[in-house]
Amino acid sequence: MTETKINQETPVEIAGAGPAGLAAAITLAHAGRQVIVHEAHKRVGHRFGGDFQGLENWTTQNDVLNEFKALGLTTDFTAMPGCNGTAFDSARKSYEIKSDEPLFYLIERGPGPDTLDSALLKQAQSLGVEVRFNSRLRQMAGEGILAAGPRAADAIAVGYHFETDMTDGYWVICDDDLAPQGYAYLLVMKGRGTVKSCMFSSFKQEKCYVQRTVEAFQELVGLEMKNPRPHGGSGNFRIPRSAYSGPHPLVGEQAGFQDTLWGFGMRLAISSGVLAARSLLNDENYDMLWQHELRPQMETSIVNRSLFSLLGNRGYGWFLGNQLARPDLRASLRRQYQPSLIKRLLGPWARHRYSSRRKDITCDHIDCYCVWCREECCVHEQ
Ligand SMILES: Cc1cc2nc3c(=O)[nH]c(=O)nc-3n(C[C@H](O)[C@H](O)[C@H](O)COP(=O)(O)OP(=O)(O)OC[C@H]3O[C@@H](n4cnc5c(N)ncnc54)[C@H](O)[C@@H]3O)c2cc1C
Repeated sequence: MTETKINQETPVEIAGAGPAGLAAAITLAHAGRQVIVHEAHKRVGHRFGGDFQGLENWTTQNDVLNEFKALGLTTDFTAMPGCNGTAFDSARKSYEIKSDEPLFYLIERGPGPDTLDSALLKQAQSLGVEVRFNSRLRQMAGEGILAAGPRAADAIAVGYHFETDMTDGYWVICDDDLAPQGYAYLLVMKGRGTVKSCMFSSFKQEKCYVQRTVEAFQELVGLEMKNPRPHGGSGNFRIPRSAYSGPHPLVGEQAGFQDTLWGFGMRLAISSGVLAARSLLNDENYDMLWQHELRPQMETSIVNRSLFSLLGNRGYGWFLGNQLARPDLRASLRRQYQPSLIKRLLGPWARHRYSSRRKDITCDHIDCYCVWCREECCVHEQ
């Protein structure tokens, strides 16, 4: 890490107005620092446009919304508690997902009025943060934070956004014929929904997996889509040796911070944004902060992913039956994300098995228009 002189008078620059960048901006502004956030697009949440996502609520005992409040972050966005739902295995056997407390909060992303992105933007601006839209930052001279989102694609989630008369809820299918080594999901909230295949392999066949996913949900739960619009995106999972680029902290998916098992990245994006801001405010080493706070959970999630990828269609039924029958599901999930002796021992094997930006032998990037190839091409053009 290069030493930078802290000058309270000059603004801190942040590249990217996603959850990571805005959480950093809000933390700095609370402490009285001037902040300028550069956002490459004309609005927040460009790559999500009305997507529904789960803000996970199992890695800490404390509820994630209370944690936001404790961090001084707004909770003024729509958040539907995700308690009970249904999972299916590849033989279409159903398993009830039951939890007294929310396992996640279903929230909306993008520039809409009730989204996470708009709420964070509003709070940042009310604290005096200057947000410059259509401003792609290419160089950073003074103090700054890089929060520009994924740099590579390790998994993709592809499907549709739509309107519907279905009742609110969430449904998941573990089946490699719908979502190789991942899961297919359907989320419905207030007359709108998203259906996606979240795949960790075989990206080139995304169209076929999306079609099978839609057909499976139609058959199993009567999925009904009005005005379906295609939507997809990629995720980057990586534990960097250092999350600095020169003197500038990297936060959120720009650093590769994400839950490698299921692809939950928002909470890590926000936590890392807050930690990076604190490192600037208190002149602390950011690498030490995130390694202490975030690394154990991310390391464990790599072991979890490597174990999950061994299951295949034969193992998913066993996995769902075993996991979902536990009396306190939220606590059980929390334990699975905590380091243990066995997970530490499995660490080297898991890191060897899982490597970020891996070569997916089923996709050669030639004559392919899957989300991965489209986004890889954009990343290289930046
Ligand atoms: C389809 C899909 C579903 C997902 N579902 C979930 C889920 O259910 N739960 C969950 O927790 N996570 C989910 N994720 C992951 C989650 O969305 C991300 O991990 C999270 O948004 C990362 O936040 P971020 O701030 O790091 O990056 P982003 O949200 O990507 O924000 C980065 C911002 O930086 C801007 N930018 C890029 N380059 C520059 C530049 N040079 N200068 C200025 N601005 C720039 C971009 O325009 C963008 O607005 C999902 C991802 C996808 C693709």
